[in-house]
Amino acid sequence: MGQTKYERCPCGKIPMFLSPEGVGSRIGHVSGICCNEWSIEFKNDFADGEAFKQNAEIAWNNASRAKPVAKDMIARGLTVLLDDLDERIILSDRIGLDSVDELVRLCEEEDQLRLPLK
Ligand SMILES: [Zn+2]
Repeated sequence: MGQTKYERCPCGKIPMFLSPEGVGSRIGHVSGICCNEWSIEFKNDFADGEAFKQNAEIAWNNASRAKPVAKDMIARGLTVLLDDLDERIILSDRIGLDSVDELVRLCEEEDQLRLPLK
């Protein structure tokens, strides 16, 4: 329980519920019940009822998203930066960042934001 079946919103939250609009319309829009800032447009083909809800859910979950970089991964990256170069490369590769430079940049940003780092 407490697990959502929806993908993370670009705002960073995982919505517990979705708010689809455009029932019975050709094109629908679906937002997460989190920020209500982001919405995904989907082809609804005049569906209503369950089919409409399903179209909205599929559209929400299948929308392409940037790779999330979890804070703890950034924190771990920073720790590794203090270690040797080989490990740095392995870690940045595992996170899926383009380069070690990207990892360094994220760590610096994190530092500027004064977010807690372990
Ligand atoms: Zn959101």
